[in-house]
Amino acid sequence: MKEFTVKDFILYNNPCFVCNEFIQLQIRVTKKSIVSFPNNLKPSFSNNKLEINLSTKYYNILNLSIDLMSNKIISNNINELQDFLFNHELNLQSVCLSCGAYISSHFLQFDLKNGFVKPVGIAIENFVLESNDGYCQYDIYSSFLENKSKVQIRPMHQKNIELDIPLFSLSKFKNKEKLLEKFKIIMLFS
Ligand SMILES: [Zn+2]
Repeated sequence: MKEFTVKDFILYNNPCFVCNEFIQLQIRVTKKSIVSFPNNLKPSFSNNKLEINLSTKYYNILNLSIDLMSNKIISNNINELQDFLFNHELNLQSVCLSCGAYISSHFLQFDLKNGFVKPVGIAIENFVLESNDGYCQYDIYSSFLENKSKVQIRPMHQKNIELDIPLFSLSKFKNKEKLLEKFKIIMLFS
């Protein structure tokens, strides 16, 4: 499976394939031991570095900074970061606030000894496309873990069609037009 550095992940669907707007990068933090709502953090960017405060306590700061060029990580408290990563999973999310296109990565793996974040694969892609004539919508949900995609085809004034198809990745298509052509063919044979 193709793996991405944090920088490559940000660039993967940016600007958005569907609507051409710039995406928002979020870092999703999930507690490992208990079932709880994940926390979506919005990092800040400066000098090719991404920075977030991971601390769950309002009076504390636990910074994680990732250098987008070298993938090196820096923290104001490396021991606390180690504890935090022991108890939490982090993954990257690319969210288009304009059309809702969503891509998430697998959990990030950190090499704390050498101070860097490893490349990561895509876990989920979800986006909705509209045919050029506006007659039909395609809602595509791809699970890279299950190695398959689901398409919900929503033609105007007709019943929706749901199809399971082989894994479908944005990276296989040069542009939106090529992707829409593919869906026309899928519709013909469904
Ligand atoms: Zn979009």
